[in-house]
Amino acid sequence: PLPQSTGRVDLDGVTFRYTPDSPEVLHRTDLHIPSGQTVAVVGRTGAGKSTLVKLLARFYDVTDGAIRLDGVDLRELSQVDRNRHIAMVTQEAFLFSGTIAENIALGRPDASAEDIAAAARAVGADRFIEALPEGYDTDVNKRGGRLSAGQRQLVSFARAFLADPTVLILDEATSSLDMPSEQLVQQGLQRLLGSRTALIIAHRLSTVAVADRVLVVDDGRIIEDGSPQEL
Ligand code: ATP
Ligand code: MG
Repeated sequence: PLPQSTGRVDLDGVTFRYTPDSPEVLHRTDLHIPSGQTVAVVGRTGAGKSTLVKLLARFYDVTDGAIRLDGVDLRELSQVDRNRHIAMVTQEAFLFSGTIAENIALGRPDASAEDIAAAARAVGADRFIEALPEGYDTDVNKRGGRLSAGQRQLVSFARAFLADPTVLILDEATSSLDMPSEQLVQQGLQRLLGSRTALIIAHRLSTVAVADRVLVVDDGRIIEDGSPQEL
């Protein structure tokens, strides 16, 4: 069990194949991420970026090697601890049919209306929500309640902020936003990142620029590892 986490992540010799007879998509990967570091992952399509972050989010178990959080093998963590410490945000913003408040509170059913509003405020989602006729009670899928791509992303950031994981995993959307939304989303992201450990599959140059470290993945290997300035 791991009641508390600092967010240190270690991959030791991680090898992965999706099925026993399919090819390896990650080859003996070592990666050490200190607590609080923001790591951007870039690389061409099919390189293994999503696979890498999905292993950390434990969608799959490694085929060989180990992934550790604060020195504890992910396979030894309870689902409760894992979900509390590690959260994945896909920016194709997965919202379910329900109100904005319910969507933000996913994973924190005990959250009060004030907790929800505080999380929205923290990532800068409060302005657009409060401008809606039904505010936090807006049904995200109802006619008139439809949210833009940027707004959906802000709602998913508020959800992650409320969940308060020590490790944040983000698969950034490729879809482009207009300039004002882009700015709001980028600000929301920065606030969400705070001092957490983060691994971001980055498509925006602005995200790469704010990372402490950039990994270039190619053909299942980390081929470059440095600061945004170096790469
Ligand atoms: P993109 O930039 O297009 O999202 P990526 O770097 O995220 O690419 P991955 O999705 O990690 O790439 O894919 C790495 C390799 O694993 C590819 O060869 C892909 O075909 C294979 N792969 C991905 N998902 C599966 C799956 N569910 N089952 C079998 N093979 C898969
Ligand atoms: Mg991918």
